[in-house]
Amino acid sequence: MKYTAIVLAGGAGKRMNAKVHKQYLPIGGKPVLYYSLKAFEESEADSIVLVTGAGEIEYCRQEIIETYGLKKIVAIVEGGRERYHSVYEGLKAASGADYVMIHDGARPFLTQEMIARSMKGVQTYQACVLGMPVKDTIKIADENCFAQETPKRSSVWMIQTPQSFSYPLIYDAYEKLIQKGRDATDDAMVLECMTGQKVRLLEGSYQNIKITTPEDLITAEAWLKHMAE
Ligand code: C5P
Repeated sequence: MKYTAIVLAGGAGKRMNAKVHKQYLPIGGKPVLYYSLKAFEESEADSIVLVTGAGEIEYCRQEIIETYGLKKIVAIVEGGRERYHSVYEGLKAASGADYVMIHDGARPFLTQEMIARSMKGVQTYQACVLGMPVKDTIKIADENCFAQETPKRSSVWMIQTPQSFSYPLIYDAYEKLIQKGRDATDDAMVLECMTGQKVRLLEGSYQNIKITTPEDLITAEAWLKHMAE
């Protein structure tokens, strides 16, 4: 069985308000993106497809892949306007895989345990995503910002990556999404909307944060320092 990791680094990271895209900002002296590529490099994954922003392919090749001697990256492709466009480009470059693990390059705290759980899970369920039960109460707001609904906390999860799928299943779902001109913010949602396939939630980690806003960089530095102690 062939497992390909698709690592997404094609976003502009507008919520970071930085000149450099968030996936290239340094934490612990290395780019955010390096950490998850390294985790897949050291895992049982067979290959890695890296999806970057327009004009960033050479930068990634030289500054990340060559600098850190990464060997499993078989393709670097340019992403698209929204995350789902980038995933679609990554999926096209991953043809021949039996399973794909789609991961946000902005999540540096990916561990071998999480990758192994995801690889095992996708063999059993064909579609699985990592996540964690929410700690705060979640409210659904109406258009005037009044609380409309309060889902039972124990049944609400925040969804992380990797999101892992049987390749034909996710490829077909994305083709349908693109053809129909629909959008999606995560990959499981594409399967839910486009197919009848159920998606299994598996435990990730509260440490598996996505670097999104400036305070996330402070949290990330603190984690790295704690891990080095
Ligand atoms: O900004 P967002 O939370 O959607 O980003 C999640 C991941 O998807 C990031 O690693 C980002 O680089 C990637 N992304 C992408 N192409 C886009 C938007 C986001 O590869 N057009």
